[in-house]
Order: sequence, then structure tokens, then C-alpha cells
Amino acid sequence: MIVLGIDTSCDDTSVAVYDAKENRILSNIVSSQYEFHIPFGGVVPEIAARKHAENIDVVFEEALKVAGVEVKDLELITVTRFPGLLPALLVGLTFGKGISYCSGLPFKGVHHIEAHLLSPFIGKEPEYPFLGLVVSGGHTLLVLAGGLGRYRVVGKTLDDAVGEAYDKVAKMLNLGYPGGPVIDRIYREFKGDYLQLPKPKVKGLNYSFSGIKTAVKRLVEKGYPKEQIAASFQKTAVEYLVGKLKKALKEFGIRRIAVSGGVSANSLLREKLEELSEKGYEVLLPDLSYTSDNGAMVAYVGYRRFLLEGGDELTVGALPRLSLEEVNVEG
Ligand code: ATP
Ligand code: FE
Repeated sequence: MIVLGIDTSCDDTSVAVYDAKENRILSNIVSSQYEFHIPFGGVVPEIAARKHAENIDVVFEEALKVAGVEVKDLELITVTRFPGLLPALLVGLTFGKGISYCSGLPFKGVHHIEAHLLSPFIGKEPEYPFLGLVVSGGHTLLVLAGGLGRYRVVGKTLDDAVGEAYDKVAKMLNLGYPGGPVIDRIYREFKGDYLQLPKPKVKGLNYSFSGIKTAVKRLVEKGYPKEQIAASFQKTAVEYLVGKLKKALKEFGIRRIAVSGGVSANSLLREKLEELSEKGYEVLLPDLSYTSDNGAMVAYVGYRRFLLEGGDELTVGALPRLSLEEVNVEG
């Protein structure tokens, strides 16, 4: 089955073609519009929607071309329906429904975070149970996954997502947007001593990043060098992420870990996960092209959901918020 995957949940317009029979992504085109949002210091939903509308047709044509397929070869249309910026989501959703309606193809809406969660398995079959750590621009979640649509969120951030904290720290330090890749590079090049930043004392498996962010603000005001602040922030944030991950592994006796989302591209996080894999844990990470938003993960998950529960009516809508547990299968 040849599956089209569309994601326009935030500021990337992405379309992918997935050959489900061969379990192979044939193309995954991502057109980022982040430069248009730089003057505003964050993503403006209305601008995002207009840019998606301008780009989606070109991205779609390119995805078909690279995959070497035509519209008539497509057999299933999958699109991110939730969560995300509502005006942005609507562009991809409407585009996907249009193709589905005109070609009489089945249509399946996808939960964006479920797509991130399973992205480390692209190219093979998901294996359950696993502990998922989703670290993106809008989410920081620890998820116990017992099967497709069988998720339990066991930890989450009580305030900022880790990717958001990266972006805000980069903004305070005038390092541009998005902050993650820049701060990661500075960390790699930094040779000096690290500054002490507080690790929040949130109980259990939940996270909080606002305290770290405030501590960074103080250091900026005190005039510490940018590089030292950025590198210290990364060290603290990643140690904090991994600390709770280890706690969860112990608590649930799980040996398989799947880490996903934009922050899963982080080099220090990958180093720490490598240490876990040396200790005998099975660690899965997405290919770097599947860490940030992409249509491949949507097609990969949309196809599996379609097999499990069939397609959706074309009357379904988009939602800005919907927790992962709300798309759990019954029973
Ligand atoms: P969500 O999926 O929660 O709706 P999103 O789709 O906007 O949010 P992603 O595209 O998964 O989020 O991730 C983007 C985030 O990843 C940004 O905050 C960015 O700074 C961060 N990021 C990207 N590369 C790195 C890196 N190497 N280190 C740390 N953070 C990174
Ligand atoms: Fe995302």
C-alpha cells in the first residue's frame, strides 16, 4: 500500500510517501518557514497557515516526484489532525481531504505526538512494551506504550516543554531561533567550567523547566559569557531529562526506550542514551531527518492506525489540543 503522509501542525510543511508493503519511506519533503517567524520571536499561527497554503502544493509535487509515484498510485491519505496550531493544521487537513475526496481514497487523521512517539521505529515494526520519551517544541512526555493506541502518560512537563526552554534560552542569549541546534553546537565547542543551575524539585516523573529558565535569566543579567550559560543550560537540561527517564525505567522495569521529537537530535542526549545502551537497554532513536516534524512519521503511524480501526469520515476536524491518551483504543 502506498501511503501519503502530511504534516502542517506547526511551522514545517511536510509531505512524505511511504511504501507500507516494503516498510520503506520513499520520500520525505520538509519545507521550513521558520525564517518568517524570526521577527516575531515565535511561530505566528496565521502566518504559518498562509505559508503552508503557499507551499503545500509544491511540497506535495516534490514528494511524489522523489518517490517516483503519481497520484493514481496512492492508496491511503494520512494527515496530522491534532494537536497543533489550529489554522496551520487546517491547511494540511483540507489538502489531504481534497485528494481523498477527488480520488476516492481512504483517509486517516493522525495524532501528531503518537507520530513522534513511534518515529524511532520507522523502517521496522514497533516493538512493545517500551518507554517513550517525547521531547519536542511543545511536549515533554514520558509514555508507557503497551501497544498501538495503548499509552499511559506517566510523566510530563508542568510548564515549558524542553524544546521551548531551549528556544527561550537562545532568545535571552540572542542566539536566534530555533535555539536547540545553536546551543548544542556551543556546548560541543565549550571548554570552560559549567555554571551551577538548579534542577527543579518536581516530585515523581513530571518535569518543570521554568526554574532553569529563570536561573538562566539571572546569569544573563549578571553578565556571564553567553557560551558558558548556553553550555551549562544544556548540561543541566539533558541531565534532568535523563535522570527522570532512568527513574521511570527503574519504576516500571522496562528495558526498551524510544526517544523522539526535535530535542532527540541533541548530541549530549544521544551520548547519555548511548551509555544506557551500553548498560544493556535497547535504545531506539529516530533518524535525524525524522526528529523534527515530518510527514514520514505521519504516514507510518496513519497506516498502522488505518489497519487497526479503519479510515475516518471526511467530516472530521482538527483540534489544537488533545492528549495522547485520548486516542487510546478501547478495551
Ligand atoms: P510539538 O511536536 O510538541 O507540537 P514541534 O513539532 O514544534 O512541537 P519539534 O519539531 O519536534 O517540535 O522540535 C522542535 C524543537 O526541537 C525546537 O524547540 C528546537 O529548538 C529543538 N531542537 C532541535 N534540534 C535540537 C538539538 N540539537 N538540541 C536540542 N533541541 C533541539
Ligand atoms: Fe512536532
